[in-house]
Amino acid sequence: MNKIEHIAIAVKSLDESIPLYEKLLGTPCYKKEEVESEEVNTAFFKTGESKIELLESRSKDGIINRFIEKKGEGMHHIAFAVDDIIKEILRLKAAGFEFINEEPKRGADNQLICFLHPKTTNGVLIELCQDAPII
Ligand code: ZN
Repeated sequence: MNKIEHIAIAVKSLDESIPLYEKLLGTPCYKKEEVESEEVNTAFFKTGESKIELLESRSKDGIINRFIEKKGEGMHHIAFAVDDIIKEILRLKAAGFEFINEEPKRGADNQLICFLHPKTTNGVLIELCQDAPII
C-alpha cells in the first residue's frame, strides 16, 4: 500500500464542520461532493500528501448517521492509496482479511474504493482506493 490517501471524519453538519476544519488546518475546503451510492455528502481538505474527508449523512438513517448515533462524531475510516485495487483485494483475501465489498465501486474524488471489514482489522474501518478518473 502507498500513502494514507485520506482520513475520514463523520460529522453531523458539513455547514458547521467545514469552517471549523478550515480554521484548524489553515487551508480551504477544495471540493464538496455528493456520493449517492454511499448516501453521504463529502468535503475535502488537502494536508500535505494526504487529505481529510468530512462525511455527512444524506438521510436520517444513512450509514453516517447510524455511526454517529452509536459512537458520536469522530474518525470514521482510514484510506490507503493502492496502485492496483484488484491485486490488493486478492492479496488481502489470501491473507485472511474480510471485505465489506469485494467489488470496487466508485467513491468520491475520482477513486475506485472498497472497504475491509473492521472485525478483521482491530476495529478500524479501512478503505483501499485507486485513482480512477472518469474519462
Ligand atoms: Zn474514504
